[in-house]
Amino acid sequence: MGVDIGSSTSKCVILNGSSEIVSQAVIPVGTGTSGPRRAVEAALAIAGASMEQAAVVIATGYGRNTYDDAAERISELSCHAKGAVWIMRGVRTVVDIGGQDAKALSINEDGRLADFVMNDKCAAGTGRFLDVMARVLEVGVSDLQGLDEKAGGIIQISSTCTVFAESEVISQLSKNAPIPDIIAGIHQSAAVRAASLMKRIGVVQPVLMTGGVANNAGVVRALARALGAEVKTSPHSQIAGALGAALFARERSA
Ligand code: ADP
Repeated sequence: MGVDIGSSTSKCVILNGSSEIVSQAVIPVGTGTSGPRRAVEAALAIAGASMEQAAVVIATGYGRNTYDDAAERISELSCHAKGAVWIMRGVRTVVDIGGQDAKALSINEDGRLADFVMNDKCAAGTGRFLDVMARVLEVGVSDLQGLDEKAGGIIQISSTCTVFAESEVISQLSKNAPIPDIIAGIHQSAAVRAASLMKRIGVVQPVLMTGGVANNAGVVRALARALGAEVKTSPHSQIAGALGAALFARERSA
């Protein structure tokens, strides 16, 4: 079992002895909440298993040190790299945009983490940035991608700072700017930030986006535009860290 306790979301993945996913759960509350327990309970319920049957439990993510049921704790970087390589064999660049940080990982030809850069000092371009903007626009974060598709143009959001960008969005709303065009600008702002992070480690194809923001096809499209390169995602993108932790647990139990 792998448990990824993020700043905003808790994830749990259970693998069988053949390293196939038996169950997974994503609970949209993170460290310091009931999220980790609920994610574990939900994944166990889907698997029809009890905690005692879990051969090895490994925790990762921002809140991993507070999770007592783990035999071991492994860094998010190692788990994300491991999960990403399972999701996409041959992946060379991973961009992970989560609730509170963004990271770019360089993976070598042997599938090992070679280098990384991280932005964990500022909410700009992270899930939090998108959550704040969605709230101002009175839409759900999961609706952002569909609205982005309706954009006729892109309204540039010039401030990268979340607080100032929020003011810009409010100012655009007061001018009756089309909401889809504002959202396209918000996505572009997040994408440009992620692209500059990725360029610091070098972008080698194939590129995989992980983390919860990979669920937002608007950001994925904007990132591909900003990089001038293809960016792939997977239905497993948000659980990449938990999956990596579960793969380490599988190795430990072998
Ligand atoms: P954590 O850092 O807590 O591990 P995640 O990688 O799970 O965070 O990402 C959480 C972020 O993903 C949220 O802040 C939200 O912006 C985004 N997100 C999650 N689900 C969706 C969705 N269905 N559509 C768009 N964005 C999403």
